[in-house]
Amino acid sequence: MGIASDPVFRTGLVRTLFVAGSALVVAALPGAGSWPWLAAAVTAFVAAVLVARRSVDDFADLRRRVDELDGSDDDRALEGPAGLASRVAKAHARVEDERSAAELEHAELLGILQATGEGILVLSQGARLVLVNDAAHRFLEPPFEAVGRGLAEVTRNAAILEFAEDVLAGKAPEDREVQLEGARATLWLELYGRRFHTPMGETRAVLVLHDLTKRKRLQVVRTDFVANASHEMRSPLASILGYAETLGAGTLDEAQARRAVERILHNSLRLDELIRDLIELSRLEHTATHEHGPLDVEERIRDVLASYEEKLEAKRIRLELELESLPHTLQLDGELFRTALSNLCDNAIKYTPEGGRITITSRLSEGGRELEVAVADTGPGIPLEHQARVFERFYRVDTARSRALGGTGLGLAIVKHAMIVLGGQVLLESQPERGSTFRLLLPVRAVTPAPGRSTGGTA
Ligand code: ADP
Repeated sequence: MGIASDPVFRTGLVRTLFVAGSALVVAALPGAGSWPWLAAAVTAFVAAVLVARRSVDDFADLRRRVDELDGSDDDRALEGPAGLASRVAKAHARVEDERSAAELEHAELLGILQATGEGILVLSQGARLVLVNDAAHRFLEPPFEAVGRGLAEVTRNAAILEFAEDVLAGKAPEDREVQLEGARATLWLELYGRRFHTPMGETRAVLVLHDLTKRKRLQVVRTDFVANASHEMRSPLASILGYAETLGAGTLDEAQARRAVERILHNSLRLDELIRDLIELSRLEHTATHEHGPLDVEERIRDVLASYEEKLEAKRIRLELELESLPHTLQLDGELFRTALSNLCDNAIKYTPEGGRITITSRLSEGGRELEVAVADTGPGIPLEHQARVFERFYRVDTARSRALGGTGLGLAIVKHAMIVLGGQVLLESQPERGSTFRLLLPVRAVTPAPGRSTGGTA
């Protein structure tokens, strides 16, 4: 395409010719036709052509840039200034759109990085922080905004600093576990790190801090549990062995031998009880689902209590039932309910002194969505400082008393886990010397109404 067809050139040329023509007309005026006038007119013409040519070059350069921005293959070279201006406006709008889309994408990525539970740090050379997500901030607890600071200002943990240095140096260190002493608690973190380069060629390191604290705590709990369980088993077993050996020696008289057999029996039962509770607890810990009834709650409560009749009588404990008029059946796992209630009743009878009182109440919350069953006793009560811990495995307020009463130290842990499986909870209210109330709160899936159901009464 020749320059003569260029609209800008043509416009420029028309204007140039107009100027030059005007100059020639002026030159042809009477009295102006002298050679200096003519020379001036010719000079003006040449200058005008040069200026037109220059503006065409500038314009072509501008158009090429707009073509680059626009990116379309259309032949637009014949466009004049108005067309070009409209394309500039369109290209500008598109660039603005692309910029907003990129900003949105950036915000979304940042949102994802913030939402993840993993701590994420991005470092530039010199271990300067370029990005620190919320989780990383929470783990490292700097009392200031960490971005822009050196990693060494944010944490003094030598293992983390060394790890970051290795990653930045491209050493690809093995994933590492570190222990971090926080202001409130000790954290265990697993570190992952990789080096990368930005599109601008800058070196960066990304460190991922994975929180292992919960897992580590569980490991400790498990180790303690095994140690405690072995310890609990050792003492009845040692007693059984001792008595059996003495019996075997044949040196005991008849009364002593009977006493030894009684002790063997007693400790065997204790061991049996302990193993049963351990199996029950382990079963509950591995149970994620439960049956959904239908269950006649009142009948189940009476059924559980029937198995304690002898014990209640032996200790002359008065039993009171305050069972609110419950619908006939509730959608509830009857076996888990029995497990929880039995353990609470067992404890209430164990710890209530002779002549005491145990009250069992049950009621449905408004709307019938939650069943509350409470076991209250007039026993020794549990001091406040022990109340949160009595649901831990093998935790006892008074170890000697619990063992003497045949306790395994697992009853309330079993209740707690049964409630977890049922999606409910167990609450404790207690005052030393006045008694304890354990309250089971159970979500009820559905209720089958049964009109005319009788309310409970004193058993
Ligand atoms: P244990 O087999 O020793 O009774 P539990 O797990 O059932 O174990 O209970 C843990 C501890 O909580 C008991 O050792 C006892 O100190 C205390 N406890 C539980 N129930 C009662 C209660 N009804 N009254 C007083 N103390 C209780």
